[in-house]
Amino acid sequence: MNKTLYSPLIFELSHKGRHGYSLPDYDYGSEPDIPANLKREKAPTLPEIDEPSVVRHYTNSSNNNFGVDTGFYPLGSCTMKYNPKVNEAMVARASVADLHPMQPAATVQGALRIYRTLERYLSEIGGMAEFTLNPFAGAHGEYTGLMVIRAYHMSRADEARRKVIVPDSAHGTNPASAAMAGFDIVEVKSLPDGTVDIDDLRTKLGPDIAAMMMTNPNTVGMFEKGIPQIADMVHEAGALMYYDGANLNPMLGIARPGDMGFDVMHINLHKTFSTPHGGGGPGAGPVGVRSGLEQFLPVPRVIEKADGMLDIEFGHDAFGRVSAWLGNFTVYIKALSYILTLGADGLMKVGKLATLNANYIMESLKDLYELPIAGPCKHEFVFDGLRDKSNGVTTMHVAKSLLDYGFHAPTIYFPLLFHESLMIEPTETESVDTLDSFIDVMRNIARDAAENPDKVKGAPYSTPISHPDEDEAALNPILTYTRLCAQPTS
Ligand SMILES: *Cc1c(COP(=O)(O)O)cnc(C)c1O
Repeated sequence: MNKTLYSPLIFELSHKGRHGYSLPDYDYGSEPDIPANLKREKAPTLPEIDEPSVVRHYTNSSNNNFGVDTGFYPLGSCTMKYNPKVNEAMVARASVADLHPMQPAATVQGALRIYRTLERYLSEIGGMAEFTLNPFAGAHGEYTGLMVIRAYHMSRADEARRKVIVPDSAHGTNPASAAMAGFDIVEVKSLPDGTVDIDDLRTKLGPDIAAMMMTNPNTVGMFEKGIPQIADMVHEAGALMYYDGANLNPMLGIARPGDMGFDVMHINLHKTFSTPHGGGGPGAGPVGVRSGLEQFLPVPRVIEKADGMLDIEFGHDAFGRVSAWLGNFTVYIKALSYILTLGADGLMKVGKLATLNANYIMESLKDLYELPIAGPCKHEFVFDGLRDKSNGVTTMHVAKSLLDYGFHAPTIYFPLLFHESLMIEPTETESVDTLDSFIDVMRNIARDAAENPDKVKGAPYSTPISHPDEDEAALNPILTYTRLCAQPTS
């Protein structure tokens, strides 16, 4: 576990005249005919370096990354999950990789069939009448869904509904998306067990409320048992129910938002339907609506014509477009490939195994870590740090310690309901051996925290960077080559 503290940039390894190729000199005969205004005045500044050094540089840099392909990744509220390699093979096929969004519909019937089939499957899985695949992410899906809700109220000339109710435990994108869609936010409180406080909700409902946003399982991984009652109350007040289905894993094949009384929902294909998640995308946040709201979905839509051919329609436009074309097409191929390879039976197992794995870890550690909300949980749960806090070992120290054991840290200091949140989500595809080794390590760390707290507080010992100044890193990140060169990190 001995890594150099600071790995040099490829430019810093450069030596004039050194190179990693050997090509014969080539005689062009005459000067190639390049217009003067297109010619470079100076050669570009490229690193000059031998081949083994290039290969080592990038291989070693890649080893400093942590990913689902290198180790267990129990990050909560993210569902960093299994990304079957067969899906990547499907996407890499020239028949899909070489398509262009401006091709006439008649030449991309297969692609449109993939698109339409996935819309139908998601509708079935969510219990919705129709889906659009256009939005690019979960937050974008929330925005799209709220614009659908707005268009619905406008269509009934019910213009007083300018507020959206969001639980205080919601993912930060919920209030942000509602604000982007032009709504004011009304916060509803959580009970000590993390579920919505229905008495508080009652006082917030009225003719100015457009929708109630809910995440289920909620942000602390609990199933919201009050949904039927909440849905009745919200509908009675003339508002619609919005389901944040970013992490739908524990529900797959078990329960459907449409059956619970939700009117609009989104799904994160990059969390629940196997697209690799992280590094900024690409993702997709398809939006589903119940029957009666289809006409408010954004255009373009893929439609089936009487002769069985598919077409791209720009017809009824309720509130403008949310994407230039039909969205992130490669993500749809992965999602459909995932659904087809699992089949209905396999999808049913996803929810059960996600729930089983989370409860297994929770039960195995709750004697050493503080569990503020007793289970059973769904796909994830939250500890409030170590039970024994007397030695000053915090959630941050536990998270950094895990890195030395080859595990990615769980989500920390979120949700904000607790001071020392440690949010663990194993996901459904991890073996019991992996879960057991994670449990062992978490128990080791708790024991060290009691017997040798300085050891835990000094971790990590094996990473290129261990204790950066976090405030400084957030406020003044060094993002350019020259500055990084001038100030090697410590
Ligand atoms: C991840 C997540 C989102 C946002 O999804 P993005 O694709 O990151 O925009 C919204 N809600 C919940 C509950 C999430 O976990």
